[in-house]
Amino acid sequence: MQSIEHPAEMAAWTQELRSRGETVALVPTMGFLHEGHLSLMRRARERADHLVVSIFVNPLQFGPGEDLERYPRDPDGDAERCREVGTDVLFLPSSKLLYPDGFQTTVQPGALALSLCGASRPGHFDGVATVVLKLFNIVSPDVAVFGRKDYQQLQILRRMGRDLDLPVEILGMPIVREVDGIAMSSRNAYLSPAERLQAQVLHQALDRVEASVAGGERSTDALVQLACSLVSAQPLAEIDYVELVDAESLPPTRELSSPALLALAVRFGGTRLIDNRVLVP
Ligand code: AMP
Repeated sequence: MQSIEHPAEMAAWTQELRSRGETVALVPTMGFLHEGHLSLMRRARERADHLVVSIFVNPLQFGPGEDLERYPRDPDGDAERCREVGTDVLFLPSSKLLYPDGFQTTVQPGALALSLCGASRPGHFDGVATVVLKLFNIVSPDVAVFGRKDYQQLQILRRMGRDLDLPVEILGMPIVREVDGIAMSSRNAYLSPAERLQAQVLHQALDRVEASVAGGERSTDALVQLACSLVSAQPLAEIDYVELVDAESLPPTRELSSPALLALAVRFGGTRLIDNRVLVP
């Protein structure tokens, strides 16, 4: 496995392979890799001749007061995990190289970015779309793989691909969970034992709402209310949002008549966790 820091060197590496007719898959990450990331890498590995994994904690997608400075890092462990799944190149660009002095052009996603995390983290998805477009331009992947844990992000990036005619296939992968049901996340490392225990309520609420839908409940208000009451019963939980939205276009739905996304963002102490489930009536 090769490590590359310079965008120009990264671009030259892919161009060389592409000139030989070989294909490249990209998995963009912010590092502190876990099984969720590895599942994307294994899928990517199957879909192309070569695998590039990028690790970049993107300052553009963090708001003021968010956890940019303390975002967990483990460069040696990450390199080992990447090697184990057969990564060809670990792309480790610096902020200085991706956003040199004078940088000022960004991508602004449309309506998909207005709800959920877009509403509670203003500018977040501009930062995500901008860095992903830059990574696509540098790496020129045939395929890029993302997780459905960040469901809204995946929808926005798919839309960006179509809207901007990007020649890359975007694949979405299921949420990988810990044995206790918590969605794997680099941010789980911030949780105290008590917070960690109470954070199980996220997937429990998703399960309960799904069961309620299976039992015939179709009222959005009732389903959201059920999730809210379960989450609020945990003393350390502070709800950012609990919303049921159309699974494709993401505006709130009133009645569950087509697939809908139940999306949760909840703080435990200083840690904001997200989870989601697609509900099919
Ligand atoms: P991050 O490093 O948090 O930016 O995540 C990088 C990629 O891994 C994104 O496409 C995430 O959606 C995906 N990802 C993170 N956690 C999980 C998980 N538990 N299951 C599946 N994919 C995940």
